[in-house]
Amino acid sequence: MIPVRVFAGRRVAVFGLGGSGLVSCQALVAGGTDVVAWDDGEASRLKAAEAGIAVRDLRAEDWSTIAALVLAPGVPLTHPVPHWSVELARAHGVEIIGDVELFVRERRATCPDAPLVCITGTNGKSTTTALIAHLLRAAGCDVQMGGNIGTAVLSLEPPQPGRHYVVECSSFQIDTTPTLDPTVGIHMNLSEDHLDRHGTMENYAAIKQRLVAGARTAVIGIDDPLSSAMADRVEQTGVAVVRISNHLPVAHGVYADRGHIVEASTAAATVIGDLTGIDSLRGAHNAQNAAAASAALRALGFEPRTIMAGLRTFPGLAHRMELVGRIGRVQFVNDSKATNADSTAQALASFERIYLIAGGKPKSGGITSLTSFFPRIAKAYLIGVAAEEFAATLDGKAATVIAGTMAEAVRLASADACADHRPGADPVVLLSPACASYDQYRNFELRGDHFRDLVLALDGLSR
Ligand code: ADP
Repeated sequence: MIPVRVFAGRRVAVFGLGGSGLVSCQALVAGGTDVVAWDDGEASRLKAAEAGIAVRDLRAEDWSTIAALVLAPGVPLTHPVPHWSVELARAHGVEIIGDVELFVRERRATCPDAPLVCITGTNGKSTTTALIAHLLRAAGCDVQMGGNIGTAVLSLEPPQPGRHYVVECSSFQIDTTPTLDPTVGIHMNLSEDHLDRHGTMENYAAIKQRLVAGARTAVIGIDDPLSSAMADRVEQTGVAVVRISNHLPVAHGVYADRGHIVEASTAAATVIGDLTGIDSLRGAHNAQNAAAASAALRALGFEPRTIMAGLRTFPGLAHRMELVGRIGRVQFVNDSKATNADSTAQALASFERIYLIAGGKPKSGGITSLTSFFPRIAKAYLIGVAAEEFAATLDGKAATVIAGTMAEAVRLASADACADHRPGADPVVLLSPACASYDQYRNFELRGDHFRDLVLALDGLSR
């Protein structure tokens, strides 16, 4: 854990006592802060009290004595409406921050030279975060990885010289980190998602931009127009911008060209990596992730040789185009993390003969944006609330069946794919739902685990 001393001797309110909120309390207390904490849920309050945290209703506190409100991720700051604790803090002129802000302040105070790489974007954050951490570890560095990827940033080891931090940041975390100052800030891409939390696309883009605007080096994906415009804007403020693309040959930056990672400068374009045969980095979207990770390591001073060695050994992340196994020439791929159409598009673009399992709790627009990929779908097995809607979208363009449940979908899809002996591309049974999981599962991990378990139980499966 990282003791946070920047509020030593002062009072700080913490709202939201799930995993990271609780760690924030403990880190602040360890740094000598007087912490008062609250949560709307009784179970969380009890757990915090058991951990020795002073749990007190913040509505009854004297806010003139409070230096800051630390808000846990997920507690509404602006949309749909500000949480009551946010309203109270604002009414009393108390600053509202999150755990990443506590971390960056502590790093600046104790060890500003510890390299910090922060990653954001609509898609590819976790993969890029894990890939950068992997590349740095493979290069022999002391690496701490956390943030939105799952480990609360304050539960990492404290900053010390040479220790590298790789931190995934959601929009919410950026919004509550006013002084975010990474050594390398990465913005991957922007597409419509989470607009319920951010209002408009412009607001969403403006939040993401703050992560790169404060960076020493800004690595920005330019494969969508909003992000490309962001790169121009950030450059105009004097920040060093490295542009990345999964297909465009950028003039100054890093891009992917038919499986190669190319670094371009005014002087030359040099191949610095080769993704051919790396299963964990298949697909154009992973080329973008690999370009971003390579650009980050170059900005930190690593040689192409070192980057290449690390790319080759990247194990990939569970639930993101994870190859579960094979039966003969049929591959079974778990892409449960594809919770929107844009991520499913990446998976569909990576295979040619797809037995697709999709559905769940639909997002606005459904899968209408995926029309150009429908010819790749041999058959779709639809589950959850979205099944009827997706069947209507696919009607006349791809064969569909309403399977309802994951078990039925896996049973039907595996039987069809294994009976497909047509020459050409190998059949793939792909779970890439383009939907949230909440109608049938608690989260996308449990949905992917269920798919994996069902596949692993199939006769004749090899890994
Ligand atoms: P995030 O953490 O931003 O949600 P992940 O790395 O967990 O992103 O990947 C989530 C899904 O998004 C994956 O299943 C994959 O299909 C898709 N994806 C991964 N990288 C990218 C990218 N660079 N661009 C678009 N989609 C991507």
